[in-house]
Amino acid sequence: MKITKLTTYRLAPRWLFLKIETDAGVAGWGEPVIEGKARTVEAAVHEFEPYLIGRDPARINDLWQTMYRGGFYRGGAILMSAIAGIDQALWDIKGKALGVPVYELLGGLVRDRMKTYSWVGGDRPADVIAGIRRLREGGFDTFKLNGSEEMGLIDSAAKVDAAVARIAEIRAAFGQTIEFGIDFHGRIGAPMAKVMLRELEPYRPLFVEEPVLAEQDESYARLAQHTSIPLAAGERMYSRFEFKRVFAAGGLAIAQPDLSHAGGISECLKIAGMAEAHDIAFAPHCPLGPVALAACLAVDFVSHNAVLQEQSMGIHYNQGGELLDYVRNRTDFHIEGGYIRPLPGPGLGVEVDEERVIAASRSAPDWRNPLWRHADGSVAEW
Ligand SMILES: [Mg+2]
Repeated sequence: MKITKLTTYRLAPRWLFLKIETDAGVAGWGEPVIEGKARTVEAAVHEFEPYLIGRDPARINDLWQTMYRGGFYRGGAILMSAIAGIDQALWDIKGKALGVPVYELLGGLVRDRMKTYSWVGGDRPADVIAGIRRLREGGFDTFKLNGSEEMGLIDSAAKVDAAVARIAEIRAAFGQTIEFGIDFHGRIGAPMAKVMLRELEPYRPLFVEEPVLAEQDESYARLAQHTSIPLAAGERMYSRFEFKRVFAAGGLAIAQPDLSHAGGISECLKIAGMAEAHDIAFAPHCPLGPVALAACLAVDFVSHNAVLQEQSMGIHYNQGGELLDYVRNRTDFHIEGGYIRPLPGPGLGVEVDEERVIAASRSAPDWRNPLWRHADGSVAEW
């Protein structure tokens, strides 16, 4: 079998789909994207074509190493996201060619169903109680919400109290019938992260995510010494070489690589294994589309330390497109009581509605994240 063609489709809400075709008639799909930089990753995908066209898609390991090592410069959000989507599509091809799901090729299931959670409350957390009530009717009992809006490097007690009050309201309304993680989203610097973690501790969140920015990862160990809240991070780390340093430094309880940003299934499987060796849980980041989610699940279902899977149904980013809009086998993605079952189809298990993809890609918007500023006019982390 030989790879013959790579086609990319930018899609609402902020996705990029990749189709890799072969001379055997088997095609695979991937989602190589960095949110807000879809065109840049798209260009990077096509720059990898000379390494791929005419090659045997079954040799995923060699193609991965060729893309990673063959260009001298490596790593980072753009290149690793391009490799990620290509890697997903290659695993999809391999599974389809052999007639089995990818998790069977990776050694088979370690669990029967995978716990998922739902976002609630949006960019500036609001109406969280009503949102949780609504989602509970759909069976979810685990949630994630943003922990704060803009926060200065040193900021007021009033802002801290407002953020903490929202969390207190959730515990008061639902007691321990639900669980939730709190995403600091890299909005908070180390000085205020320490304050916030102390104030949030009584409400016992499942985790705090990106307590500080990934480029401040040396703070994780220090922060962990001041709190019993498990600290999570990883969506802005792109390879096992980055996770290596963070795991060794200590402090992280949950690793959250993104299957569409950190080199795909091949790389995230290795990151999951490294995490397991450090007693660190695995909870892939996935605010993206169905192929990205299927890739996450392929690794979750073979990784003993996988604890939670993010998924994007109803997420505040999904303007103009929902998780299953481009999927034919929607019932396979049914979530019951917060759990999803292994996708039964061959490859990644996603039957992509190609006609709909082609039609929608003709008018795809260029998504950009909001640009926030502090009260003094300086740029704030979003
Ligand atoms: Mg996050």
